[in-house]
Amino acid sequence: MKLFMNSTDEKNISLAVKGYKIFFPSTFLTLKSKPIAGLKTNRKPVVGFNQKNCQLFSGRDNNALYDFDEYAAQDGIMPPPSGIKILIHNFHSSASAPMFAALASANPLATIDMQYFLIAKTGALGAPLLTALPDVLYGYDWSNSTNFTTDRIKETAYHEFSHASHFRKTSTSLWTDNIKFIVDYDLFSTTSYGHAGDPGVEKTDLIEMWGYFMGREYAHRRYGPNAHSSLTEYFNPATPINFINSWYAVAENGGHAGVNIFDWEHIPSRFLHDLLDHNGYNTDRTPQLPESNVVTDNVRNFTISTIYNYLDGSTTSPASLMNKLRGNLPSGNTVAAFDSLRTSYGY
Ligand SMILES: [Zn+2]
Repeated sequence: MKLFMNSTDEKNISLAVKGYKIFFPSTFLTLKSKPIAGLKTNRKPVVGFNQKNCQLFSGRDNNALYDFDEYAAQDGIMPPPSGIKILIHNFHSSASAPMFAALASANPLATIDMQYFLIAKTGALGAPLLTALPDVLYGYDWSNSTNFTTDRIKETAYHEFSHASHFRKTSTSLWTDNIKFIVDYDLFSTTSYGHAGDPGVEKTDLIEMWGYFMGREYAHRRYGPNAHSSLTEYFNPATPINFINSWYAVAENGGHAGVNIFDWEHIPSRFLHDLLDHNGYNTDRTPQLPESNVVTDNVRNFTISTIYNYLDGSTTSPASLMNKLRGNLPSGNTVAAFDSLRTSYGY
């Protein structure tokens, strides 16, 4: 396998400095623009972004993986594995972190499961990738130009890297069970992450609870109260750009006081955000950031590292994570307040 390196592409240089590899066997680079059925023409697989405002990996100081490593060190959690294999492509509009390369030696999945997954995520590259498995796939086949804003690209990258971090902490069986669930209930359906009540959905809910939580936390850490883009799917209007339409606000109320406290209607990521702050933090600000009115948040001061440390292989559902956190309340919190918050999310 050859490491693709474009000498004019600072992204690859900075990743190499960090010990990470951009993953792309040279044979794929000859794919050029021959389309397969159902794919648009002129689909040449590319590595990285060079367009304006696309700074996922362009430049050392705007490198999402570099950011993540730095923030993970601040928080005392593990970064993604060194040698992580990242495939950036324009064959699909979703990102994922199946960690296939890292899994391969430990607990291989059935080839058919990986193949379904890769075909769904990359189309033409599905079969060739079986012999060169990636860990993270980042597809940017976006029709909406607003997706190409730096903070959105970073938020998605932080989300995926938080999965890679979780992968290092948890069991391989949790990971493979989740991939099999996605293959069975998500890939060829119109929803993402299946539905509440699907067999095995709790593991996926746990994994995505952490991913959605962390993506927004780190996007807010990076872009703060007023350097984010207009998150119009959450806030309408999203101008002027300020704290109450920031990534923090997405984590706080989903942009809709009273509804949408879950991601995809069953993933309770905002519960973890609510463990860090409490409602007084929001109401003390000008203008105030309203908590969702179906959530009672009088819990505060949990840390990312405390949450992460419970994400070992013995934690396989949001409920089990919540039970463990309940037994280790930071000072100043009460069990009653914790239970009120948990009940808000239906747990
Ligand atoms: Zn995810």
